[in-house]
Formats: sequence, structure tokens, C-alpha cells
Amino acid sequence: MSRYSRITEDITRELRSIVGPSSVVTDEEKMLPYAHDEVSEDAYVKMPEVVVRPGTKEEIASIMKLANREKIPVTPRGAGTGLSAGCVPVFGGIVLSLERLNRVLEIDKENLFIIAEPGVTTGEVQRRAEDAGLFYAGDPCSAESSHIGGNIAENAGGNRAVKYGTTSRHVYGLEVVLPNGEIMTLGGKCVKDVTGYDLIHLIVGSEGTLGVVTKIWLKLLPLPKCRADLLVPFEEMQKAIEVVPKVMTMGGIVPTSVEFMDSMSIKSAELYLNQVLPHSDAGAYIIIEVEGSSETQVEEDYETIGELCLENGGIEVYVADNLSTQERIWKARKCVAEALRVVSPVYCMEDITVPTSEIPKMLKEITAISEKHGVKIPCFGHAGDGNIHATLLREDMDEDTWGNIKEQALEEMYAATYMLGGNLSGEHGIGAKRLHSLEKLMDPVALDVMRSIKQTVDPNLVLNPGKIFDL
Ligand SMILES: Cc1cc2nc3c(=O)[nH]c(=O)nc-3n(C[C@H](O)[C@H](O)[C@H](O)COP(=O)(O)OP(=O)(O)OC[C@H]3O[C@@H](n4cnc5c(N)ncnc54)[C@H](O)[C@@H]3O)c2cc1C
Repeated sequence: MSRYSRITEDITRELRSIVGPSSVVTDEEKMLPYAHDEVSEDAYVKMPEVVVRPGTKEEIASIMKLANREKIPVTPRGAGTGLSAGCVPVFGGIVLSLERLNRVLEIDKENLFIIAEPGVTTGEVQRRAEDAGLFYAGDPCSAESSHIGGNIAENAGGNRAVKYGTTSRHVYGLEVVLPNGEIMTLGGKCVKDVTGYDLIHLIVGSEGTLGVVTKIWLKLLPLPKCRADLLVPFEEMQKAIEVVPKVMTMGGIVPTSVEFMDSMSIKSAELYLNQVLPHSDAGAYIIIEVEGSSETQVEEDYETIGELCLENGGIEVYVADNLSTQERIWKARKCVAEALRVVSPVYCMEDITVPTSEIPKMLKEITAISEKHGVKIPCFGHAGDGNIHATLLREDMDEDTWGNIKEQALEEMYAATYMLGGNLSGEHGIGAKRLHSLEKLMDPVALDVMRSIKQTVDPNLVLNPGKIFDL
């Protein structure tokens, strides 16, 4: 029997009185988009009993108080672009959509901050910063659709983490509604702050299990003056991936991005975009971005990196130093997740992360696993961070075959990842999808500490239950 209560007419009425009738959705068809994220398997689809779209933190606080009183699960939801079923209401109950909290509240040019509500898209944060002559460094490939609140909940990585780190590095303040409905404000515009425990970075990456983020202080940087992107095709995949640790250590340069696409990712992107890509029969692409304060410096940097690539098996170095060619390169890289869905509507996209020096070995392991189980596993991703999206394709396998192969292949892939000093997830999080794997693989003492934090902050387990670990 579930520990949770069902949504009754009375509760729906109370929710309407909190957020207004037009912000409570009970119609099945209208709730369907809130039943899943971007994980394509049916096992991770679950209908909410009600979707609520609050417009203020006070409304969210009232919803959480009601949920605690009635023991109803509440699942926060950003844009639903997650890749670990984090916003799926696995126990039903309320889906709390943050879509109406979508305002940029302030751009502080003196202190270099942008303050935003969680439902602003990441792309909008980037643009608003840029309009002010400033730079927001976070850049997940989903920037045009994902919300900044979702980025914080997942500690999203993305394309520029090589140089600027993941989302957590940019977050200096948060306003959070706790599971019991209390409102907590952490940090703000101070660059240094060691006043007590670092609760900001406990909330960042907590996947909506410890609080609902309602306001965010993000640090901005001066806008880089010049930028160039290199596209380097390689005959052999292994040669391409081997160049990544060299780029990171031998050139004396910190690139902004070092991305990888294997042959299947290249071909799928080419088909999806209906556009001829250079050397699209190559074994792999490496995409490198460098930025700087002068054209001369950027030129020197990309020449050094370009030469390193050519000395190590690169076929050619394409330099994109204007917006339209840069966009072409990034369009190919950013569309891979969607492009693979055309090849196989059901797939299992993984997010393993290893020390950068170990990615050549990791790719070898993945190739061996793919051959052993007869499942295609195209790989692409943020190679400069050691973070690879190995994506198992179901294609035309029947349910049972897919289930068995996926389980065995994942077990072996995770084992190899841990053997190489890596971890389960670099940026997509655990959600409902990797919960059982985390229990098997994580340091049990650390897992216990995490469980006790959750139980302290949310004793009734009403906020996003069924995520990260079972309780
Ligand atoms: C094509 C594609 C490319 C992608 N590329 C990247 C990439 O490069 N890097 C990367 O890191 N990820 C990437 N992702 C994954 C995804 O976009 C990120 O995880 C993103 O941060 C999720 O944001 P969202 O608003 O869609 O959150 P959702 O999917 O709606 O939710 C994700 C989690 O956050 C919680 N949550 C959402 N909002 C709040 C809030 N305000 N308070 C508390 N909890 C909240 C939810 O409960 C859930 O656990 C990609 C996804 C796609 C489909």
C-alpha cells in the first residue's frame, strides 16, 4: 500500500483557491506532457493526478504545507528536458510546474549578477546577459528549452564546463521553498561567503528532492571579445579520443569546449539536418572552442591546438571564426540527441564520467560491450570533461531482448567506469532512472549521509519521492 494519499475533490478545490482555477490542470490530455521528460522508455512515464502552476513563492509554500498535511507527493518540474526521469511523478500526486515563474528580475552590471526566477530558459539568461555586454557561462546543449531552475536542480554541465565549470560554479544565491513550506534564502551577491554550511551547493544538484528553487543569483563574467571553433575530423575514432587529454595538457591552453562525436553521431546529425557535413565518413569529430581578449591570441591558441590535432591523426582542421560557420558546427553537435531518436525512437542515453586521461580506455570498453551484446552504442559528448553520452539503441529489438541486453550492457559499462575512477552521471543526474544502480555503486556511507539529509529536511518524504534513492 502506498504511503501517500490520493488527490480528492476537496484537495483540488484547495489547490484552486491557492493558485487560481486556471493554474490547476486535471484534464488527462493536458496533463500528458507532464507525465514524462526526455527519457524515451515507457517505464518512465507516469501520469500526475493534478498539475499545478503556481506564480509566487508564497503559493508554492502553501502547496507544500498542504502536501505535508495530507501526505501527497509533489514533483517539481522545469521544462521537462531532463534525461533521468527526475520530474516524472512516480507516485502520482501533484506536478508542480515552475513555468509561470519566468522573469529575469535584475541585471546588476556593477556586481556582475543576473537574478532570475527558475522558469527562465537558459538561453534567455545567456541573451539577457549578452544584451548587457556580459556573459553567462552555463551552456547545456538544451539551453534553448531547459529552465535555469532545472539546470540548478541537476547541476547541469554542458559545452563550456571545461573552462568555466558546471552550473554550481555560477550560483551565488538561492531562494528555496523547503518541503515543509518554509522559505529559506541563501547567499546573494557576495563573492566570498563561508557563513555556516554551504547549503547553496547542497541544493544545487539535489534534483528537486530537498527544496523548490524560486529565485537564483547567478554570477556573470565580461563577454569574451573573440572566439573561434575548430572542427577536426579523424579517420579513426580511437585517435580522435586520444587527442583529447593531449589538448587538455600539452598546449598550455584552457579551451572553452572540447566535444566529441563518433561516426554514427556524425551520420545521424547529417541526416537529421539534411545538410552535408565535412568529412562525414570520418571515424570521429573533435570540436574545440577557444576564446580570448584579442584575435591574435585566439589565432595563436587555435593554431597550437590545430597542429596538435594534425600531428595526432586529424585529417584537416576547419576553423570557424564567424557566427554563421560557428553556428553550423554547433548545430551538428547539439542535434545529436534528437538525431539518434530518428534512428531509434527508444534509446538509453548514458552520462558516464571518468577522469579525462581515461576516456580513450573508456571508449574502448564501450566498443567491446557494444560488440559483445550486439547493440549499437553511439558515443558523443563533452570529452574535455571526461563525460560521454554512450547511447544504447533499441532499434527493432523486442521488449525482452532489449531489457536483457540493456541491463547487462549497462552493468558492464558502469563497472568499467568505476574501474577507471569514474562515476555514474556527469550531468544528467540519477532521477528515477539510475536509482538502483546508484544503490549498488555508491559508497554506502555517503549514501547513508544523503538519506539522512533527505529525512531531516523532508520527514514526510513528500518532495520528489522515488528519486536518487529509495526510502
Ligand atoms: C537535447 C538535449 C540536450 C541536453 N544537453 C545537456 C547538456 O549539454 N548538459 C546537461 O547538463 N544536460 C543536458 N540535457 C539534460 C537537461 O536539459 C538538463 O538536465 C536540464 O538541466 C533540465 O532542465 P529542465 O528545466 O528541463 O528540468 P526538468 O527536466 O523539468 O527537471 C529536472 C529535475 O529538476 C527538478 N527541478 C526542476 N525545476 C526545479 C526547481 N525550480 N526547483 C527544484 N527542483 C527543480 C525536477 O524535479 C527534476 O528532478 C539535455 C537534454 C536534451 C533533451
